[in-house]
Amino acid sequence: MTVQYVLKEGQSILFYAEVETPMLDAMILLSEAREESKEKLLSSLPEAVSEKDYLRYRRLLDLRCSGQPVSYIRRRKEFYSLDFYVDERVLVPRPDTEILVEEALNTLHEMPLIRRLHDACTGSGCIAITLKHELPELEITASDKFPEVEEIFYLNSTKNLSFPLTFYLSDLLEDVPGNYDLITANPPYLKDTDVENMKKIGWPEPELALKGGLDGTTVAKRLIEQSVQKLYSGGFLLLEAAPDQMKDLMGAAESAGFREISIIKDLAGRERVFKARMHY
Ligand code: GLN
Repeated sequence: MTVQYVLKEGQSILFYAEVETPMLDAMILLSEAREESKEKLLSSLPEAVSEKDYLRYRRLLDLRCSGQPVSYIRRRKEFYSLDFYVDERVLVPRPDTEILVEEALNTLHEMPLIRRLHDACTGSGCIAITLKHELPELEITASDKFPEVEEIFYLNSTKNLSFPLTFYLSDLLEDVPGNYDLITANPPYLKDTDVENMKKIGWPEPELALKGGLDGTTVAKRLIEQSVQKLYSGGFLLLEAAPDQMKDLMGAAESAGFREISIIKDLAGRERVFKARMHY
């Protein structure tokens, strides 16, 4: 069987399993099974696939049909051109979160005196590690409430930076020492009921990294309140949130003493990143 033949076969298997991008996923999984790049795969269409690689490919297709995302199957996800290890213990980094990273970088370019950064609810560490990679002179720490995340964070930090960033095990900022110029977070922000419904249909990501309470804003609002104590005056808070939460978060931030609130849209034009500045 040729590469071309098994790709078509995989595409059809995934199509009938209602996978959204069957050809792309078949290509990624066959590349994974053959341990070669997608580009190499596409230049090898007439080549024969060995039995060992074919069996491996079929096993990966089975996992994909059972609802595993490609990133968990491959145990990796690209984010801001870096390579992150991911598994069922952490959310898969999303392009939406790259918007938050970009906004943090804009803020840092505008405010050259900013030095100390903290990333709460860090998960795979994609925000903290990417920012440190882009601006090595910054002091960046990260935290997460879930102990199972720590190992993944260190792995990603060592893989992308060649050294481990500081990680605190902490419920939001409760056990995070010191004060900061910029606090970032992609907190859980989906409605509990939505996450429960997603879980019923087999959603593979950790529910505690998604559940943001009754209306999805519980964690973000706690973070806004805690940030008041942890930000230097004039410091910034950057949060990822859902478009329908922005008004509510704006109210919470204004009453907590934040000013200069702005909302940044994601690639699909939806309001996705909430930015506010501590009064000074
Ligand atoms: N962006 C995710 C989603 O919409 C939610 C991530 C989160 O809760 N932090 O599925």
